[in-house]
Amino acid sequence: MLSSHPLERIQLNNESNWRTVLKKAFKDPLELLEFLGLDRAEYLDKVKTDSRFKMLVPLSYAEKMQKGDWNDPLLQQVLPINQENIETRGFVNDPIGDLQAEASSGLLHKYQGRVLLVTTGACPVHCRYCFRREFPYADSSPDKKQWQNTLDYIQGDNSIHEVIFSGGDPLMLSDDRLQKMCIEIAAIPHVKTLRFHTRVPVFLPERINQSLRKMFTALSAVQEIQKVMVIHINHANEIDEHVSRALSDLRKDGFILLNQSVLLKGVNDDVATLSELSHKLMANHVLPYYLHQLDRIQGAAHFEVERDRSIRLVEGLRNHLPGYLVPRLVEDISGERSKLPIEKNPE
Ligand SMILES: *Cc1c(COP(=O)(O)O)cnc(C)c1O
Ligand code: SF4
Repeated sequence: MLSSHPLERIQLNNESNWRTVLKKAFKDPLELLEFLGLDRAEYLDKVKTDSRFKMLVPLSYAEKMQKGDWNDPLLQQVLPINQENIETRGFVNDPIGDLQAEASSGLLHKYQGRVLLVTTGACPVHCRYCFRREFPYADSSPDKKQWQNTLDYIQGDNSIHEVIFSGGDPLMLSDDRLQKMCIEIAAIPHVKTLRFHTRVPVFLPERINQSLRKMFTALSAVQEIQKVMVIHINHANEIDEHVSRALSDLRKDGFILLNQSVLLKGVNDDVATLSELSHKLMANHVLPYYLHQLDRIQGAAHFEVERDRSIRLVEGLRNHLPGYLVPRLVEDISGERSKLPIEKNPE
């Protein structure tokens, strides 16, 4: 476990450090555009500033964008634009309505053998294609009673072998909170794997700090447990030296690293881009896992890649890459027992 005062000091420093970085993140689209040297007259025309789903972009992420380029694939993912106001048929306002009902206790048990915990609503960034709406980026810790219910549920069902920490982003929780949750779950004998779904290593690599790493390492002392981290990277340009370092640290701490991407028009919808991403992930010891067909969220229609084209893209990838670098193209359909592979219709 974490030892006493010298470590605690590090912990405090680290904690304030990444929170400070986040506080300084861009929240005003006009400021971000100014930083990128993009023209004011043009942005007043197409940028949405009254969004309820506020912009949130850490400085280190903005630094990876190409200055002066409206079409930068990183910028596209995070800049609120007027197209978000367009109502599109087939795209719904509350695509996770049924999900939310199940998640009232913060625990989703849809698939055999694994449960997913909604640990917080906070994220290190606001991705425009996400269904999430304006969340405070401070901790929104689940209350104690709810946590006890979650533990009781997992303890009471020995078919549960894997617990997924999701959100929002679970690494936005404080060290103390995260440590308590992880250790209590790792202590359940039938839980063999802890998995984290997170964008933090890409958007806030400062968070992968000493105290967090100590905690992760300490988990293996609780019981022999596998640790998996599924990060979310959509484009090779998102991986710079800081991200590489964070990934390398996580690997040293015993994580199996996987990546999931969302297929996004104008961001990563061509074979060369996806192929480059797979190679760069591999260079960082991360294997591609899922490539998600976009969830049909109202306001995100401009990101959608048409299904047939998605299929062709992945076929194209298969001709360029070893099988283990080709992500599985899937969609999430409520009521199904797994994510569904998207494949060519038999002719
Ligand atoms: C996506 C998801 C999982 C994880 O699915 P895998 O196929 O194991 O990656 C688990 N539970 C829920 C509710 C999910 O949405
Ligand atoms: S980090 Fe994940 S949950 Fe948060 S806004 Fe982006 S896609 Fe949505």
